Amino acid sequence: GQLKMPLFGMDIGGTLTKLVYYEPTNFDEFDLKERETLQTIHKYLIGNTAYGKTGIRDVHLEMGNQTICGRNGKIHFIRFPTAQMSAFIDLARGKNFSGLASGICATGGGAYMFEEIFKKTVNLTLHKYDELECLLKGIHYIDRHNPSECYYFSNPRDTGCSEKLPFDFHNPYPYLVVNIGSGVSILSVRSKTDYSRVSGTSLGGGTFLGLCCLLTNCETFEEAIELASKGDSTNIDKLVKDIYGGDYDKFGLKGETVACSFGQMMSQDKRKSAKREDLARATLVTLTNNIGSIARMCAKTEKIERVVFVGNFLRVNEISMKLLAYAMDYWSNGSLKALFLQHEGYFGAMGCLLEYLQ
Ligand code: ADP
Repeated sequence: GQLKMPLFGMDIGGTLTKLVYYEPTNFDEFDLKERETLQTIHKYLIGNTAYGKTGIRDVHLEMGNQTICGRNGKIHFIRFPTAQMSAFIDLARGKNFSGLASGICATGGGAYMFEEIFKKTVNLTLHKYDELECLLKGIHYIDRHNPSECYYFSNPRDTGCSEKLPFDFHNPYPYLVVNIGSGVSILSVRSKTDYSRVSGTSLGGGTFLGLCCLLTNCETFEEAIELASKGDSTNIDKLVKDIYGGDYDKFGLKGETVACSFGQMMSQDKRKSAKREDLARATLVTLTNNIGSIARMCAKTEKIERVVFVGNFLRVNEISMKLLAYAMDYWSNGSLKALFLQHEGYFGAMGCLLEYLQ
């Protein structure tokens, strides 16, 4: 019969909207009217890797040869700033998205916030799903279908010679998920269906970007990361050795440990000589270490050893990944393992597409 399936899963977050597009290998099974719309949308999406000024298709993440609902196809991953939603809505109108019988599956806060606008302006129904449920569904699916999805850093204590290695995540339970988006959510996952949100913090990726823009006048996340990669946070932070002159032996604190983030900035001279790069680096290190520290406490309370970090904060951000790998290992005396996933910020959108199919 007629193939009724959603081709999109959309996760409308506080900063970025993530769109997962499922491209069926052939369109023959769709009815004629649907097929026309699908092919228009398809040509536009696949014919480009950038949409407008800010939309991007992450070609390196696409997954071919995927069987969904008994049909073969390819999965594409697209993102754009949520602030540009009106441009997406215009596009949906222009390409007649509402000609698709099934509407669009959406998750994230924006699924609620934009529901009415979608209905009113493009007559498109958003099928809404819970974002954390989608996140876990997405992780499960993508991990099972992409052999090199999960990885960790070898030698986490020696960031100079640590390298990415694949991790076998096939018997993953129990594990902790630390989703670092604009804000942070931490989930304890004991089985496919047994999970809870155990903690979170408002000091997340959005805080990093917001503070970094304030402190350095940078404009984008990429620029913030680029600056940070050239900076030295020890010009900004106060370390244990800046206070003790060396290690604080009695409690095993090394001189290199940060005692007070941004602690040098109380001095006017130090403020004057602070470079943008150093400020960006200190902001990144401060936010990352805070998240790592909360994650570690959650892992301890939950008695869980594997901590999976996801969310777009980790995009093009190996500095934070290595810091988290170091922090998990060092502060737990090697009992905690930091894990990372290639599709970083796309699990919610992926899970959202799958939710509808069930
Ligand atoms: P949300 O669902 O809250 O939007 P994401 O998982 O998409 O969360 O992560 C958003 C965070 O990712 C931002 O706060 C920022 O730190 C980081 N980030 C990575 N790439 C970008 C980008 N191109 N634009 C803005 N923020 C980005």
